[in-house]
Amino acid sequence: MIIYHSRTLIHQYLSYEMLKYRYPFGVETIDRQERMKKGYSGESLADHWLTDLFTSSSCLYLCDLRLNIDFEQLQIDSLIIFDQTVIVLEIKNYSMDLIYQNGHFYRQSGEILTSLHTQLGKIRRLMSKLIADYDSTIEVKVMPFFVNSKQQISGLLLDGDVLVPGNYQHVLAPYIASRAPRDDLARYLVSLNQANDFDRKLEIDYDSVSKGIYCERCHQPLIKKSQRQYGCSACGQVYNAHQVVSHQLKVYRYIWADRPVTTKTAYEWMDGKVCWRTLQRILANKTDESLIP
Ligand SMILES: [Zn+2]
Repeated sequence: MIIYHSRTLIHQYLSYEMLKYRYPFGVETIDRQERMKKGYSGESLADHWLTDLFTSSSCLYLCDLRLNIDFEQLQIDSLIIFDQTVIVLEIKNYSMDLIYQNGHFYRQSGEILTSLHTQLGKIRRLMSKLIADYDSTIEVKVMPFFVNSKQQISGLLLDGDVLVPGNYQHVLAPYIASRAPRDDLARYLVSLNQANDFDRKLEIDYDSVSKGIYCERCHQPLIKKSQRQYGCSACGQVYNAHQVVSHQLKVYRYIWADRPVTTKTAYEWMDGKVCWRTLQRILANKTDESLIP
């Protein structure tokens, strides 16, 4: 399997993760970012399973495509191109149990999942058109992939086109031996990919961010342990001064890419937790790529 377009954590989500212990995000932002995180972890799981299954196959894998087809926006979680077929996967990391009957999904209460049907229908309609316009001999299949192994879906067929952790290997097995596809279709789809609202940056007010030094791994505050060492009391990770400064500046530049970094900026951003002379020395060392303004 060749990965043509890989998943990137979007800017908003990374900004949120880096600042969540030090910035008063609104409830709406927190909800949206946490939902995104759940979705992202489901998608990563699917990536892992699919790249494993098709490890020796010559198919092409495209993730996270944002397309605009006939003036409609469409987000594709994952797509696999084989020589005769394109499989489009809509990945769902749901916790609720479902019932599957006559091609429809229902909650345990019997309520039909209208939004999922609408979404799958839209993907099927737009992707079939897009690919038929490009090459009408290629078959398009759309499959929802429910990746949460704790979720129960009753009524599923082992051979059907609804994927779960227990059947995806079986359903997709016939494609493993597929011949190498033409990669022009992959290039064409990637060329249609476009940025959307989710790529916009979060507006962060500098004055409202708690200043200090924070852990690169878990984003909680760091404590100075000795002259040369800083430790995270939440995850136990230990850093030297250079690593600490490098990470704090990385966060700053990630959020305010257009603002220059001086020793004074850095000193304030770290709330004086790293002494001026150390900062000056580190900032003067232009050989470190990550510190070049
Ligand atoms: Zn930590």
